[in-house]
Order: sequence, then structure tokens, then C-alpha cells
Amino acid sequence: MNQCIPFEHKIKEIPINKLKKYYKPKIFIGFCKDCKYYNKIWACPPYDFETVDLIDPYKYAYIIGSKIYLNKLNGKLKELLNNDHVEFVVNEIYKSARAVLDQELMNIENKESDSKVLFAGRCMMCDICAKGNNKPCIYPDQLRYSLESIGFDVSLISEEILEYKMLWSSGKLPEYMILVSAIFSNKAIDDSYYSTFIDQW
Ligand code: SF4
Repeated sequence: MNQCIPFEHKIKEIPINKLKKYYKPKIFIGFCKDCKYYNKIWACPPYDFETVDLIDPYKYAYIIGSKIYLNKLNGKLKELLNNDHVEFVVNEIYKSARAVLDQELMNIENKESDSKVLFAGRCMMCDICAKGNNKPCIYPDQLRYSLESIGFDVSLISEEILEYKMLWSSGKLPEYMILVSAIFSNKAIDDSYYSTFIDQW
């Protein structure tokens, strides 16, 4: 992916109690009701627990912003874009980016005891989530929530903490897209873990 898609990453540490400024579950979990994944994925609302219980056990949050420059694509992806397959291309880029990003974040979580990753969007472990068939989660150890799914204002987090303004497509390709992931932790994370992660992308 890094061979053909220009991107950059930022990681910012913030105490959990300061991050809670952006925690507005009534509003942001409310927005999830309009999403096609609402009540279709175990890692998405509605929940039978309070999402604050996923936040309060931790002291620190590491907010990870991955900025993918869509206007600098080349090769096959650019060709597809020129042929008007915008939604398909954006979706493919998103899925490729998530596959790499999710794995790298899980590697950090595995090295750092007492930490928990939040993905940049819905759980994508399975092609179709078992919840749609009223079955229990197939990989409960791998299920991770996202900041938005537990009630954070990710757009404002991106703007104020990462200093990345989110762009919305409104029918044409935006200049870039931003993926916002996080790691909650009870101790400061060894920065060699994530500097390696940034360098190798
Ligand atoms: S691991 Fe699979 S079954 Fe569990 S929440 Fe994720 S997509 Fe659904």
C-alpha cells in the first residue's frame, strides 16, 4: 500500500481526562442510528453496557491520525478514478489502509500490557458480522471499538488534537482522507513502538 498511496501519520498523547472533553455519547452514538451498520455489528451501537466503562479504566490516550492523499494517487487507482469509480477506489483504499493499520495497532497492544486499541471505523474482522445472523461474535478477542462508536466527536479530535481537518466527499473526490485510531493505556507507551510503526509505512 505504501508503494502507491501517499500518506502521513501523526500520533498525539493526551490524558484520558482531557480526551473526555470530546466524549458526547448521547449525540454521537445517536448519529450511529443513521448508519447502515447500526445494530449489525457487535462492535457498533446499540450496546448493553455504558461506553464510559471502556474509557475510565485508562489514564492515557494515543490518538493516531493517518492522512491518505487521494489527489496524488498513481497507477491503476488513478486510472479507475479517471473512469469515475470514485466510491470503489475510496473503499478499496480504506480497506487496504485498515488492514495494515489494524494489524500494526494490535502489535502495539500486544507489546503493551494494560492497553486497548480503538480502530479507525467498524470492526472488519469478518466479511459479514455474526450479529446480522443473531450469532455471538466469532472473534471476541479481536473485536475492537472505534472512538466514534463509543461516543467521541472524532471530527473535532482530528481538528484540535491532530490538526487534521476532516474533508467530506459530497460527490467528488476530496484531496485526502483521514483515519483516526487510538490506543488507550494505563502507562506511557514506549515511543519506539509507534515510531517504528510510523517509519515503516
Ligand atoms: S470479530 Fe467478526 S463477529 Fe465479532 S464484531 Fe467483528 S466482524 Fe462481528
